[in-house]
Amino acid sequence: MAAQGWQNWPGRIRCAPRQMVTIASEDDAVRLMASNPALPIRMAGSGHSFTPLADCEGTLVRLAPEPKVFHVDKEKRLATIWAGTPVWALGPLLHPHGLALANQGDIDRQTIAGATGTGTHGTGVTLGSLSTMIRAVTLVTPAGEVKTCSLEQEPELFQAARLSLGSIGIITRLTLALVPSYRLTENGWLEDADKALANIDAAAARHRHYEFFWFPYAKKVVAKSLDPAPPDSSPAKSAEQMHARGLVSSFDEKIFRMGCRLTKWVPPIGPSLHGIFTSGFKGSTRTRWSFEIFASPRTVRFNEMEYAVPAERGAACLEAIVRTIRNRRIRTAFPIEMRLVAADDLWISPFNGRASMTLSVHQWAKDDERTLFKACEDIFLAHEGRPHWGKMHSLKAAEFQRLYPDFARFRAVREKVDPEGRLLNHHLAAIFGASPSWRRN
Ligand SMILES: Cc1cc2nc3c(=O)[nH]c(=O)nc-3n(C[C@H](O)[C@H](O)[C@H](O)COP(=O)(O)OP(=O)(O)OC[C@H]3O[C@@H](n4cnc5c(N)ncnc54)[C@H](O)[C@@H]3O)c2cc1C
Repeated sequence: MAAQGWQNWPGRIRCAPRQMVTIASEDDAVRLMASNPALPIRMAGSGHSFTPLADCEGTLVRLAPEPKVFHVDKEKRLATIWAGTPVWALGPLLHPHGLALANQGDIDRQTIAGATGTGTHGTGVTLGSLSTMIRAVTLVTPAGEVKTCSLEQEPELFQAARLSLGSIGIITRLTLALVPSYRLTENGWLEDADKALANIDAAAARHRHYEFFWFPYAKKVVAKSLDPAPPDSSPAKSAEQMHARGLVSSFDEKIFRMGCRLTKWVPPIGPSLHGIFTSGFKGSTRTRWSFEIFASPRTVRFNEMEYAVPAERGAACLEAIVRTIRNRRIRTAFPIEMRLVAADDLWISPFNGRASMTLSVHQWAKDDERTLFKACEDIFLAHEGRPHWGKMHSLKAAEFQRLYPDFARFRAVREKVDPEGRLLNHHLAAIFGASPSWRRN
């Protein structure tokens, strides 16, 4: 008998697992693994991945969403937290200890296990993804063993577990490297697209965080920077306030939702809306605690594709995408987002071994994304792009083997920990070129 259904944030991925289980401790996870659960076993965070990572006919596992900090080492700037803690709760939990995440993405609705599970990132040439902040992982393997790994303890398992797509085990605790609490000033401005494209390196070097949004039929981009501001004694928002903030639809979003409808139903209007949305941006300046300023509410639902390309090829790639959208009159109401991420050494991180520019394209959830995404994916691949694991792509094992120098190392650890592929759904089986036992039976 199928349990109630599950769907991801845009509603595109829907499934009816036989069982849905909420885990509140390592003991719960051990008991589950020993209970002969329906296969495959998949873990879901808050369902904000666009790819079918959590798609599951067997047992869908979620961690109890209660925010929890187990231990803080203020001197070493480390905190061990429950992996089901939502990102929106982390800032308020860490702030009283004088600590914060060094960077965050555009939203804070994910769980920390889910965000790090796909290499979620923000922008900043000196800053890595959230997965790079992990210093230790506690997980329960498919064999029901509880393991804590780090660079010193089971380093191979640790390398895989820092970014694992939920293919190594149920992650229950993460120890994160943090930085002292800090305040950031945001500035937003309009800039000619040609100038912005030519000056990406200089702008990125000038600001701790730099990004821009380009509605592809517009001549200007909306640029945004975040830079450290002097500390002060301003009160920080509580977890309840942070949670509530992400649910509110702003006036701009309401207008934008109408723009999405018009773009779908009256396509010739679409390109002029890009100019209107861009010129309607009035610029902004504000200063907040870091965790209060990174994320914005996203209430207009969409599907997304994002690739990380080598930083030095990014501007050419972006230019080619905009040219293609314009020449082929491809419909989208959304801007392309340009961000920068530092190189890392995580085996299956899109940023492995190379400083990267990430470029994301979006399509309204009620619109067909295939023409836009196919056209863009061809260009991303021609620029050596690697897809964000949580965002739509069409790649399979052979392509990942070619794109990631350490892919075979990751696969070897995964096969050792889960030889029968109990944690592999169809999507992951195709990514790893594996044939799980539940599919063979
Ligand atoms: C509106 C929106 C904005 C976004 N903005 C950004 C952004 O700015 N930057 C960016 O990089 N990405 C962004 N994303 C993508 C998003 O951050 C990732 O897809 C992220 O993985 C989603 O986290 P989640 O908690 O929803 O986890 P899910 O999507 O549910 O799961 C993600 C992965 O984590 C695994 N997982 C979850 N919990 C566990 C666990 N306990 N143990 C083991 N594995 C587990 C799952 O199996 C899956 O493989 C955005 C997505 C949306 C919808």
